[in-house]
Parts: sequence; structure tokens; C-alpha cells
Amino acid sequence: MNRKAFIKLLGAGAVGVAGGAMLRCAGDSESSPAVDTPAASSGSAAKHWAWMGEGNEGWTLDQWKQQLGMMREAGIGAVLFHEGIKILRDLIPAARQLGIEPHIWNVTMMEGGLEEEHPEWYVVNRDGESAGDKPAYVDYYKFMCPSREPVRQFLTEQIGALAQIEGVASIHLDYIRYPDVILPVSLWPKYGIVQDKEYPPYDYCYCDVCRAAFEQQTGLDPLELEDPPSHEAWLQYRYDTITRVVNMLAEVVHQHGKQLTAAVFPTPDIARSLVRQEWTKWNLDAVLPMVYHSFYNEDVAWVGEATRQGVEALDGKFPLYSGLFVPELTPDELAQATELALANGADGIVLFQGRTLTEAHWRHLSAVIKG
Ligand SMILES: [Zn+2]
Repeated sequence: MNRKAFIKLLGAGAVGVAGGAMLRCAGDSESSPAVDTPAASSGSAAKHWAWMGEGNEGWTLDQWKQQLGMMREAGIGAVLFHEGIKILRDLIPAARQLGIEPHIWNVTMMEGGLEEEHPEWYVVNRDGESAGDKPAYVDYYKFMCPSREPVRQFLTEQIGALAQIEGVASIHLDYIRYPDVILPVSLWPKYGIVQDKEYPPYDYCYCDVCRAAFEQQTGLDPLELEDPPSHEAWLQYRYDTITRVVNMLAEVVHQHGKQLTAAVFPTPDIARSLVRQEWTKWNLDAVLPMVYHSFYNEDVAWVGEATRQGVEALDGKFPLYSGLFVPELTPDELAQATELALANGADGIVLFQGRTLTEAHWRHLSAVIKG
């Protein structure tokens, strides 16, 4: 399957291989600028979002205006525009004019194309294989190592450039994680694998820099550990490297007066155990967990349970918006999932993706969110 078809199937960052919604209001930090959208200023507490761009990169400005106007009418207040959209810089002011808060959706740790110049930047698995030339699962699964200073510098420059675009509300990090050491359970048959525990080909990163940094902290070489998957300090080292990247990027975007948001795995527990995200510790202005029930062989009711877990773990630290995987929801179910998310403490929902809704989906959704 090619990348586009795969991402289409898996979704925003969705799962990174499912990852990223491949895929961001106001927090409690004084450095976070307030967001002045009609939705935020209307007195309505909830805000609803959509990821957009995978598949719409080539749309004309008129096509976008038509779509965004319809979405605003249906109750959507914020759109995460994929960084690959050709007319991105024209789209930002156009969205503002239509009353839509514009965010830029950035694929963060997964970055193909630097294999020749910087082969050492890519993560290395427990078998010693680099994602730069032998990625796990799919050919584009080329993640960079968060422990490496040049990688962190590269990300700082990339995110800093996006944060300078006028009118953007936030930079939205997607694929801000390690490759899935365990895939969401519904994907196991697709790859013909059973991941009942962490296996070496999917377990990252054992590069020289990570090994040396962990050894400096603990005196231990991660490759020499008897059972790396059960070693708490080694797990925590990797949660912390991603957390440090996020918090570094938060400083960058806040310096430009913008917010930082992120697409993450659905609950704090699942995010840690599948992709090493400890997102409750991140300095975000909002988090958008991909509560894609079908990836975990769950029913729609799970959207409420998973949302509750995230909201309780955050304890008000920043807002949470529940990401919904529209291709696996009927119009009725979309309405039901939205009600469940809101009833369980979400500040709104996020659609993956905006263009996949049928007229019936919009009608049922709108009835709930415009109430
Ligand atoms: Zn590394």
C-alpha cells in the first residue's frame, strides 16, 4: 500500500502507522496568548475542530472557502491545515475571515529524505537496524532520534519558521513520538504480526547517543539490560526525550506568540505503552487525542471512557479535544461519539478528517454541537 492510502486508512497521526493524525486552546500559562475566535468569544464553552489537508493539498482557494464556510455553518471553529497544502499562506487569512481559527499541522519526528545527508539522525532498533534504511512496518516510517542535538536544532528551525506565519493560532505536532513498539490491536492482522509484548525490531532507540546518555544517567547500557521492556528507568528515559522535545518546541512557538497543540494516542496509558508519549507532562496549550475506537477493536461507547481517562489525568492542566475517526462512524454514531466525548469532559471534538463527512454526517453532528 502506498503512503497516501495507508495514511488515509490509518488517519491522523492517526495512528501512526497509525500516527499521526499524522497530525493544537488557551492554557493556564500566562505566556499563552488568548485565542480570539468567534467561537471562543461567543460565550460557547466548546470548540470543535477538523484535521484537513491529506487529500486536499491541491484544492483552490475557492474550493477551500466553500468547504470552510459550510463547516463554520455546521459548528466547526478551528481547522488544522496540513503543512503540505500548496496555498497554505493564502488559506490562513481566508480561514480567519470566515471565522475559522487556523492551525498548522506538522509531521514532527517522522522525516524521510535526510538519509543520505544525516543517516545517523534516524532511530535504531534493538536489533541494530536504522529506521533510515530499514524502517518498521512501512517504507516511510523513518523517525528521527529525539536524543540528538542536531535533530532538535532541525525541529526548532522547522517549527520556528511555521510559528512566524501571521494569523496562525497554533503549530500542531503529529507523529511526535517513537515508532509504535506495539501497534493498535486492529492492525496486527494487517501486518501478520502478534505484538503481545515489545519485540526487538519495533523497539527504539538504541543508537550510540541514546545508549551513551542512558549510561551516563544510570551506569547501564540499554543493550545489556536483561529485559529492556520491563526496565522502568529505560522506559522513562524515552518518555522524557519526547517530552523534552515538545517542551523545547513550546518555548519556540510561545516566543512567536503562538500556541502549541499535539495529536496523541488516545489515553495516557495507551500512549505510553505503544509510542512512548507521556503527554500529560507536555507543556501544550491543548491536546487532541486520537480516540479512534476501531483501531483498538472497541465500540463507540469507548470514546467516552477514553476521553474520561485523559481528562482526569490532566486535571485541568490544558484543554482536551477528542479526535474522532469519521470513516468508522455512521452519522448516528458520530453524533453519539460527540455527545459521549462532551459528557466525559472533552472541550470539544476533532474530526479526522473534515472532507470525509457526508451530508448526513454534517447534519447529525451539527444537531449536537449547535444544540
Ligand atoms: Zn537514539
